[in-house]
Amino acid sequence: MGGYTLIENAPLVSRNTLRVPVKVKLLAEIRDAAKLPELLDFPAIRSSRMLVLGEGSNILLTVDIDGTVLAMETRGVHMEQDGDIAHIAVAAGERWDDFVRWTLGQGLAGLENLILIPGTVGAAPIQNIGAYGTEVAEFIESVEAWDRIERRVVTLDRRACAFAYRDSIFKHEPDRFIVTAVRFALPRQHALRLDYAGIREELERMGVDKPAPFHVAEAVVHLRTRKLPDPAVIGNAGSFFKNPIVDAAQGEALKHDHPELVAWPGKDGRWKLSAAWLIESAGFKGARDGDAGISNRHALVLVNHGKASGQELWRFAQQVIDGVQSRFGVRLEPEPMVIGMT
Ligand SMILES: Cc1cc2nc3c(=O)[nH]c(=O)nc-3n(C[C@H](O)[C@H](O)[C@H](O)COP(=O)(O)OP(=O)(O)OC[C@H]3O[C@@H](n4cnc5c(N)ncnc54)[C@H](O)[C@@H]3O)c2cc1C
Repeated sequence: MGGYTLIENAPLVSRNTLRVPVKVKLLAEIRDAAKLPELLDFPAIRSSRMLVLGEGSNILLTVDIDGTVLAMETRGVHMEQDGDIAHIAVAAGERWDDFVRWTLGQGLAGLENLILIPGTVGAAPIQNIGAYGTEVAEFIESVEAWDRIERRVVTLDRRACAFAYRDSIFKHEPDRFIVTAVRFALPRQHALRLDYAGIREELERMGVDKPAPFHVAEAVVHLRTRKLPDPAVIGNAGSFFKNPIVDAAQGEALKHDHPELVAWPGKDGRWKLSAAWLIESAGFKGARDGDAGISNRHALVLVNHGKASGQELWRFAQQVIDGVQSRFGVRLEPEPMVIGMT
């Protein structure tokens, strides 16, 4: 069949970076977004629950899926130059890191701090991926999606996407939008973000005093490779916990009781607390229960040491959440979508 492939009783272990060995009743791999309406009209698909999947690098699957997984494998990059700005439409199934490297190769700026984030371009707007002081929302012009309620292709501009910290409309309406393409606007020149988590020091180590975007990207690659466990070596989904946001009174009280607390007061008066600090201080860095644990390299990263099931991983994550809550009175939230548990 052109444009898509259907596989029954498909294993998903190699399709999620936490390496959870669950199965799905029907796997639909789609390579041509124009075929979506036809595919979604199949009775077996129309009547079942559906989960859209990119590379599975931000998801915890805790049960077999009695429905359909739609794997986005569409490809294509189309660029139009308008003065100093490049407008680039990218198919949802393109690999994010390949796209970032391609933009740098084209002499474009903006995405350099977001290099080496796993996953697909279509998933980037879902949680408004961010790293090293940059969020992708800033460079997204619009998102094209198949709207499963209105049964048509829609284009959501940046405002309609309701981007926030690790958040967007797509996270709130997971059964509605299937992102088919993302349109970016990237400048050739922009002010580089160097004041975050060691970038400047890394550039110094590299002997670079007049950095270009590709130097910053290289510095971020060095930093990330040192800090984050590689999912090819040990199952993980990157940061598993969001940095909690609390009101100023709670932030100040915590800082008073724990002067070493790592926190960033925000423009809106609220405080963003370092979840990594909270988890490490509650004693969970490097802890494990069976094959489920927290990385000994990075306290935000839940890891699968081998054969942990999705339920075991989720139970361990909840031990961490409860431990932090009882020590600091702050409730952590998972960053990835947790499927099968609420
Ligand atoms: C080692 C490591 C480091 C990471 N570092 C970062 C980081 O620095 N910053 C950061 O923000 N994230 C980070 N992540 C998380 C992850 O890489 C991103 O969230 C990424 O965007 C997920 O892409 P994916 O294709 O794997 O999405 P998936 O995990 O397949 O899906 C994630 C969610 O998006 C939905 N989804 C996926 N594609 C579509 C689509 N086309 N339409 C509608 N819904 C869709 C899924 O249903 C699911 O809810 C990291 C992960 C790992 C493993």
